[in-house]
Amino acid sequence: MRLAGAHTTVRRVWTVELRPRAGGPSLVCVHCTAHTPPLQASSARSAVLAHLACHARTDVLPGHLRTCQCRAQGCCWHPRHRGCAGPVLLALTRDRGGRAWRLADTCAACAAATSNTAVVPDTLLGPHRPHAAQRTSAPAPAPASPSTFHEQLRVREMLTYLATALPQFASPAARLLALQCALRADSRGHVRLPAGLLRGMRLHGRRELWEELAHAGWLELPAPRPAHLTVRLLDPAVLDQAPGRSARHRAAHWATHPMPLALPPTAPSALQLTTLVLAAHTSALARHSADLEILARLCGHSCHQTEELLDRLVAARILTAWHHHRETDEVVWHLPPPQPPATPRDPARPGPGRLR
Ligand SMILES: [Zn+2]
Ligand SMILES: [Zn+2]
Ligand SMILES: [Zn+2]
Repeated sequence: MRLAGAHTTVRRVWTVELRPRAGGPSLVCVHCTAHTPPLQASSARSAVLAHLACHARTDVLPGHLRTCQCRAQGCCWHPRHRGCAGPVLLALTRDRGGRAWRLADTCAACAAATSNTAVVPDTLLGPHRPHAAQRTSAPAPAPASPSTFHEQLRVREMLTYLATALPQFASPAARLLALQCALRADSRGHVRLPAGLLRGMRLHGRRELWEELAHAGWLELPAPRPAHLTVRLLDPAVLDQAPGRSARHRAAHWATHPMPLALPPTAPSALQLTTLVLAAHTSALARHSADLEILARLCGHSCHQTEELLDRLVAARILTAWHHHRETDEVVWHLPPPQPPATPRDPARPGPGRLR
């Protein structure tokens, strides 16, 4: 490897291709000229993510030197240019129907404007740690955080990651299940979700959801043994997460009751997932907003379906109103005022409405 001179612009863009071969696709990397033997179609996606993450881990650059690589290429990766803005993040893009993948330093605005793109949380690219060592010295659990900020952030990062790692048409229930698995997995990718948790989420006994994730090559199911369902995640990107397990468990727990938004557990999974995505983007101080395209991608729906789900959340009085600013693609939503402790006379709540 050639050492970059002080004035050489460091390019933090890595791409790999999946080339069709007789025995399965082969991963080809132009940076390290890696050529893998034929991969199982189901594990190709995981291999791609692991390979790109490895480059990002190796080619480290101090934060203040990282620049938007999209801008460096004239912003040709997205249709319209709204100007670079926000922090420089690692964005993962699926191109050409999954045959090419790109990981690049991208500003938040460009990442949001690029289709098939998800921000890969830095926590997923933490330094590679020896797995065996971790099991012997478990860190003491961190004290419970007074706020849900970290849980919210962790869930938002994981939802963003899963939006790219899971197939586009993964069902909302499978996405909710995958989120719990990713946040609760041990360092070897093993996870066992307690039956009580699954019952609380109304996902108990739904083997078809596990099969959906297994079919997508995201996890491996054991032979059917109903007593204790332990699965192994095949996505290497979720194994070496920087936050410890206790922090991730707290995030997983928050995701089952994503305050301040919470639906009754009997509500359909599509509404549960939409509520969770909104809760993960709901801020304590400022107004609550996100790009419609981002909300739709995290929910695994079209923009149109997402608008319908937002309407249903208004009808269910989880939101009082929502509004789509077409010029900026921004969705703004409003929450009901916090409920006072139960009193004999409940003040009338504002009626549902959709600001248009
Ligand atoms: Zn490579
Ligand atoms: Zn751009
Ligand atoms: Zn940019």
